[in-house]
Amino acid sequence: MQFDPFVLPFDIGLYFILLFVVARSVIWFRQLSRPDKLRLQRGFFGKAFGQSLKEIFLESLIHRKILKKNPRLGYMHMSLAFGWFLLILFGTIEADIFGESHLNPPSRAIFFRFFNPDHGRTLFESAYAFLMDLILAFILSGLVLAIIKRFSSRVVGMKKTTRLRMLDRVALTALWLIFPSRLIAESLTSGAYGTGSFLTGSLGSVLASFLPAKEAAYPFWWLYSLSLGTFFVLLPLTRYMHIPTELFLIFMRNSGIKTGDRAGTFSEVEVHSCSSCGMCIDQCQLNFSAGINTIQATYLMKAVR
Ligand code: SF4
Repeated sequence: MQFDPFVLPFDIGLYFILLFVVARSVIWFRQLSRPDKLRLQRGFFGKAFGQSLKEIFLESLIHRKILKKNPRLGYMHMSLAFGWFLLILFGTIEADIFGESHLNPPSRAIFFRFFNPDHGRTLFESAYAFLMDLILAFILSGLVLAIIKRFSSRVVGMKKTTRLRMLDRVALTALWLIFPSRLIAESLTSGAYGTGSFLTGSLGSVLASFLPAKEAAYPFWWLYSLSLGTFFVLLPLTRYMHIPTELFLIFMRNSGIKTGDRAGTFSEVEVHSCSSCGMCIDQCQLNFSAGINTIQATYLMKAVR
């Protein structure tokens, strides 16, 4: 069994966002001036490439600067970004090593437990299942902080968070649902087959003690796929567009491209790289001296977008 219709929302969302990002990057590249195009090409094959990869790892995944300034907030961002990256990386390796074939489509890795419910019986398999559970627990710990932050930003050391548009809220809900639905789907499947590790295995055996685990798991696999698909489709229309744009910005900046005195590709990329994290609200003296918290950079970026 290597296909099930529930993977379709994920597949559609993933291929849509990949095509969108490639098309957007090509358009941005074509709109650059000739000297900036040459800078980017030289940067791509030179020292700037290594610098950019290092910066992406330290700032986009680890969130090193935020970690230094505000460890709780930094941990929250790191666990979601770096944790998700690890889940994709080790999930792909897992499907490659333990799946039926090598070089599987992304859905085979993302929904590995559904297609390989018996996985985890040998020592090596159970060690790998432990690692995957550990990464999922890491992400979930950051997700708990992110949810608490929405209701009480002081928990992560912030006084204010950005007010979100309706579409941003829908995307945020989809993002929040991704990891709990994965946890429940994997746990119920593991509970039905007696597999899983310290997180999915333990939760699964508890759930399977009073639920028909195999049947109950299926709607959660659908929810997991729908959450991923919705998030990917909404990504270009919401603040989450900063995820792919930020990478492009880092390559452009390290290649020597500057804002200049006219609006153009680089300023557009800069505007779309704002994550609406809201950290500029706390830093602004209009906020802490006069209580004005609706005109900071985050709202300017949102208005320009
Ligand atoms: S402008 Fe404000 S909201 Fe946007 S990334 Fe910078 S600190 Fe975060």
